[in-house]
Amino acid sequence: MPETTAFDPLGLDPVLLKAVYAMGYEAPTPIQREAIPAILKGRDVIGTAQTGSGKTAAFVLPILQRLMKQPTGRTRALILSPTRELAAQTETAFRSFGKGTRIRGQSVYGGVGMGPQEHALRGGVDVVIATPGRLLDHMGRRNVDFRGLQVLVLDEADRMLDMGFLPDVRRIIAALPRERQTLLFSATMEPEIEALSRSIMKDAVRISVSPPHRPPAKIRHEVYPVPQHLKTALLAELLGREDMMSVLVFVRTKRRADRVARQLNQAGFDVARIHGDRSQSQRDSALAGFRSGQHQVLVATDVAARGLDVEGITHVVNYDVPPVPTDYIHRVGRTARAEAEGEAITFVTQEDEGELRGIEKALGRTIPRVTLPDFNYNAPPPPRVHGHEGGRRPQAMRRPSDRGRRRFR
Ligand code: AMP
Repeated sequence: MPETTAFDPLGLDPVLLKAVYAMGYEAPTPIQREAIPAILKGRDVIGTAQTGSGKTAAFVLPILQRLMKQPTGRTRALILSPTRELAAQTETAFRSFGKGTRIRGQSVYGGVGMGPQEHALRGGVDVVIATPGRLLDHMGRRNVDFRGLQVLVLDEADRMLDMGFLPDVRRIIAALPRERQTLLFSATMEPEIEALSRSIMKDAVRISVSPPHRPPAKIRHEVYPVPQHLKTALLAELLGREDMMSVLVFVRTKRRADRVARQLNQAGFDVARIHGDRSQSQRDSALAGFRSGQHQVLVATDVAARGLDVEGITHVVNYDVPPVPTDYIHRVGRTARAEAEGEAITFVTQEDEGELRGIEKALGRTIPRVTLPDFNYNAPPPPRVHGHEGGRRPQAMRRPSDRGRRRFR
């Protein structure tokens, strides 16, 4: 492997540089190039950056550098994450980059037992990576001592806002030492987030990378007009294509996630699903199976998929048009990460045209319409089973060909 040195000028400790290069990173991303030196100087930072920009390493590395020079045994950094998946990924980042240090991180989120988290918190783990609700539970039980806290990170603040977490976030921050470094990352800067940042940060450095309403450039966008009742059949048809190796499918509701996953399974595809009603262990195993390539398809709701970071997703399919353009950007940001290529496919019914125009406006261009020559767009709706969201396989659904079932490796 050629010797790389592109991270060297940022001011990182050699131990951390070694970890960065061991991850195979060749050059810092724009947010890393700008944020790392500022955070190392102790400045507050507001970073406008989307998932996929490399923002996690942009705050994890300087935090490690600050903490590694101090004695351990006290909680000195807190990362607030909107979802358990993002918290778990950030914990992994601390572990990977912190390999050569004694700094330990613990993720703290709901849906799993309090015991192990309590143990780590009471032991004064260096870094706590938490979702707001569960952290408040621990704080109520006096499991965590933030008196030694030096750094606070609000990650994906726009998601916190969308999910109604800002009141919880404010309660947590009110209990933290005022003398601290505060970092805030958000894909978009709504007025509520501006207001929050003004109330909790001092003289922050503002860093904005790639306009917040533009997804990575290497994504191919396509719109497939289709009647509602044929969406699953069309998806099955597409999944048979050879290049559809690792496909993330977004649906609007938990029930629809269950139904689409069931129908695709019946059609012979290997499908997992994640949504808010599934237990943590079910989500973990669905994600692990999708990551490893065992499952060709992961069906997810927006909330469950937030912060999801899976390498090698080849396609994002919007089974349902996302209600707001920023959700489209977030969803399709799951593919074509870190310079790979990807494809975003959106199913659009006649009623969705208005929402689609909003998305095209945000993208700054129209998205090409695609129709499949061999697909029967005139197949009638299946008979509805009362009280049960469309239980039968649509008539137009075909079994995948063997060619299409090649697994992602
Ligand atoms: P993030 O935006 O922090 O969720 O990072 C998105 C993905 O990009 C993760 O899989 C990181 O491991 C990867 N990544 C972050 N920084 C770099 C870099 N400098 N070079 C290559 N990949 C990176």
